[in-house]
Amino acid sequence: MSAPPSYAVSVPLNIVIVGGGTAGWMTAAAFAAVLPPAKRRIRLIESSEIGIVGVGEATLPHIRFFNKRIGIDERELMAKTQATFKLGIEFCDWARIGDSYIHPFGAYGTPMAGVPFHNYWLRQRAAGIEAPIEDYSVPIFASRMNRFALPSEDASEVGSMFGYAFQFDASLYAQYLRGFAEARGVERTDAKVVDVKLHGEDGFIESVKLDSGVEIAGDLFIDCSGFRGLLIEQTLKTGYNEWTHWLPCDRAVAMPCENAGPLMPYTRATAREAGWQWRIPLQHRTGNGYVYGSQFISDDEAAAKLIARLPGKALGDPRFLRFTAGRRKLTWNRNCVAIGLAGGFLEPLESTSIYLIQIAITTLLDYMTENSGMERKDATRARFDPRIVDAYNRWIEMEYDRVRDFLILHYHATERDDAPIWNYCRTMPVPDSLVHKMDLFRRRARVVTYKDGLFLEPSWVAVYLGQRVMPEGWNPLADAAPAAAVEQKLRDMRDKIQRAVMRMPLHEDFIKTYCPAAKPSMAGAPS
Ligand SMILES: Cc1cc2nc3c(=O)[nH]c(=O)nc-3n(C[C@H](O)[C@H](O)[C@H](O)COP(=O)(O)OP(=O)(O)OC[C@H]3O[C@@H](n4cnc5c(N)ncnc54)[C@H](O)[C@@H]3O)c2cc1C
Repeated sequence: MSAPPSYAVSVPLNIVIVGGGTAGWMTAAAFAAVLPPAKRRIRLIESSEIGIVGVGEATLPHIRFFNKRIGIDERELMAKTQATFKLGIEFCDWARIGDSYIHPFGAYGTPMAGVPFHNYWLRQRAAGIEAPIEDYSVPIFASRMNRFALPSEDASEVGSMFGYAFQFDASLYAQYLRGFAEARGVERTDAKVVDVKLHGEDGFIESVKLDSGVEIAGDLFIDCSGFRGLLIEQTLKTGYNEWTHWLPCDRAVAMPCENAGPLMPYTRATAREAGWQWRIPLQHRTGNGYVYGSQFISDDEAAAKLIARLPGKALGDPRFLRFTAGRRKLTWNRNCVAIGLAGGFLEPLESTSIYLIQIAITTLLDYMTENSGMERKDATRARFDPRIVDAYNRWIEMEYDRVRDFLILHYHATERDDAPIWNYCRTMPVPDSLVHKMDLFRRRARVVTYKDGLFLEPSWVAVYLGQRVMPEGWNPLADAAPAAAVEQKLRDMRDKIQRAVMRMPLHEDFIKTYCPAAKPSMAGAPS
């Protein structure tokens, strides 16, 4: 066991969170769970009049580490938020109309002699022995069969070769976290922030003024106020790096519907004439939305297309959202840290926003518990080490940039020429960092991997191959083993995977016994 963390704060650090959406309540819950009560006072201000974005229903497996770290019970969370399991994302019609591939939460096959599996698959394919790469993935095969079971803890079994995430009702998630945080001492105020006072000498935030006239002072301000960036932008004028030229979708229309068909353990993203449509199955309803570029389609037309393509009976009215792809130039500026939409936004194609919130929170907490970031030794002002602030900002930048490249790949690597958005994306210049990654994959199927940040090798392989970025060769070490032995090994692997998946219950049945949710009181109230 590593040494217990030493806490930087010697008298309570006054933490003020502005905003009570997913970002605000995730931050409040995590801070309250991790920082000892004597070392902190946490206040959260939210305005029920303004409300929250409330979409954000699909997550990544990393959320399970977050839950574990702060002590959230997974079954309880799932039951309270009408959640389902998610094994990956199905992409329909992205490279060509009619295509479908799944980006799975888990590896394809197993490496042999230290060489990643996809190299052997490419070798087999070149020899004409073709089984789709999907056949070597537990989460993909389980998704196609609508089956689910928790991964095996025995690493020698194929049933251990995957992870999972959740699909949940975002408004219920914020509510759940609120209960969790308040039970641990977080003080909530329902009011609107109408003014922000800065310290004269250095422009740090001193206090926020509420519409009730009350002023709340703090040491550290967390801006979770959503797209408006009340503190980080409207007050501190931090600036924004905009990436619309690479990610041209800037609007969405969302509309839930009744469930129809089997309960899928995955999210679906279908490419459309001006963007793409999501479909997220929950226990009580299906979330749907059309993410589009306003230069390619009008709001009314997008809503009409979405409604016409709903898989079940509509629930509620369409909700329109506007956004600009990018991130703040600094997400930590002076004594303000912007988390969630206030910090930046990358469209929801790979369900990365909640992950980015989580990373911001845990990185910040790590600095707070390493005796290196924040100090307040007495009644004077808290101190922030600029080197820590800089390190934090660099980390978050790296996370955003890596997600950005991965998202761009989906749009850019397409053969579609049937609509202006696809012609634009197919021919647009992309960041050098992505050009380099694609070049390496095209040449010898090499995936640029890294220790930190999204995404891991199987994710890149899934999207490269799914988007028809076919390598010219593969790692020559994969040619060392005799062809017959490789063929036999791959066949065994496929058989084992199929048998393991067919032993799993249907996703719907698993949910009924593991984490059934109460029937909603108002059937179909949209989130
Ligand atoms: C179309 C779309 C689809 C998405 N899908 C996904 C997904 O599948 N997966 C995923 O991970 N993420 C997704 N996201 C992102 C996700 O919705 C957000 O990351 C998440 O909801 C966090 O929002 P937030 O808490 O930062 O902001 P918000 O939900 O906007 O909350 C802002 C808070 O600030 C408060 N506030 C604002 N101004 C004031 C004021 N003056 N005074 C007091 N309080 C104030 C509001 O009351 C509210 O409580 C999606 C986003 C969009 C737009």
